Amino acid sequence: MTENIYDAVIIGAGVIGLAVSRKLALEGKEVLIIEEQGQVGSVTSSRNSGVIHAGVYYDKNSLKAKFCPEGNRRMYDYCNSRSIPHINTGKFIVATSNNEIEKLENIYNQAKDAGVINIDKVSGNYISNKEPLVKCIEGLYVPSSGIVDTSLLMRSYLGDIEDKGGMVSYNTHFEYADLSKDLFKITVTQNNEKIEINSRILINATGIFAEKVANNFFFLDKSDIPKTYFAKGNYFETSKNFGIKHLIYPVPNDASLGLHLGLDMSMSVRFGPDVEWTEDINYNVNKDREEMFYNDIIKYIPSLDRSLLKPGYSGIRPKLKNKGEGKSDFRIDSVNEHGVLNLVNLFGMESPGLTSSLVIADYVYGLVS
Ligand SMILES: Cc1cc2nc3c(=O)[nH]c(=O)nc-3n(C[C@H](O)[C@H](O)[C@H](O)COP(=O)(O)OP(=O)(O)OC[C@H]3O[C@@H](n4cnc5c(N)ncnc54)[C@H](O)[C@@H]3O)c2cc1C
Repeated sequence: MTENIYDAVIIGAGVIGLAVSRKLALEGKEVLIIEEQGQVGSVTSSRNSGVIHAGVYYDKNSLKAKFCPEGNRRMYDYCNSRSIPHINTGKFIVATSNNEIEKLENIYNQAKDAGVINIDKVSGNYISNKEPLVKCIEGLYVPSSGIVDTSLLMRSYLGDIEDKGGMVSYNTHFEYADLSKDLFKITVTQNNEKIEINSRILINATGIFAEKVANNFFFLDKSDIPKTYFAKGNYFETSKNFGIKHLIYPVPNDASLGLHLGLDMSMSVRFGPDVEWTEDINYNVNKDREEMFYNDIIKYIPSLDRSLLKPGYSGIRPKLKNKGEGKSDFRIDSVNEHGVLNLVNLFGMESPGLTSSLVIADYVYGLVS
């Protein structure tokens, strides 16, 4: 790391920090990314479903609704232009009881409002014809959903950053930052040594740690830092290709999109994530949750062989609303909210953060000068 004044320092090399850094670098800014791990994207960005969401679920005026449908289109364009492995699988959202039909109708209307171009109402028979293992009463077909190799996506973002002269400082822990005139004075630890870095722009893209990091910005009023609640999402894997070609989602609840059938790039089936509210950062998957997984999944795949379910991995959603408080949105604060020029805090960056990353990057770029 050189003793330099950077145009922009981004804390966090997850998919969002990388996308924002890429945009700033493409716009000619000299960027430095501070990352406490030894590689990019090893926290939430590699602990998710890898789904390119269509944007069907989000409240009309939310940032999620604003970003996701465009993020979906941009993600396919980007992946095609860089040959990043991805599959446009499409997805079915399935109602398995009569009382879910009204919710399905609401999702359909919400999706249309949010600008999702293609979404169709389909019968249970239609879905069973396409996916013989799936049983349901009615459903929605969302053709623009898909999956992406998140690891290669992030490597590609990083390549774009490096091509423009930007870099990541690995194994570098952000400690605290102060502000002197228009320069952020950022203190990090590297190899047990404290180093000060100067920057004109400071972006907090630390995912589940964003509240903690913001609390170490000495110039930021504490009332501008929202409380983050953790909702862990566990997965059970089968490591088996069932011949299923679409993502299969139940009707969602407020905290999650439901215990869905996901596919990895080899089309092996996994289930999850569920919702486990927690105060700890602990990624163990408790085998005792298997019963709940099985009972939920057999509602739409009655023939599932329970012995195939194995505890897989988990990720943690940073939520700005606690259990029972309703749906949580992204919160991206700039000078307009907290009064500090060229500081952007990204809070609550849960799903669909991966899908939206390129659009979030443009949005953040518009908030700094
Ligand atoms: C279970 C689950 C499933 C999901 N599924 C999907 C999906 O299918 N599709 C979708 O679009 N989105 C999905 N998401 C959301 C998506 O994964 C996130 O929005 C995205 O990964 C967040 O990226 P990020 O860059 O904000 O955070 P992260 O990937 O967590 O990156 C933050 C980085 O900051 C670094 N950091 C933290 N503190 C410090 C510090 N003090 N100093 C230096 N570095 C620091 C961390 O090491 C980390 O690398 C899912 C999320 C979860 C939890």
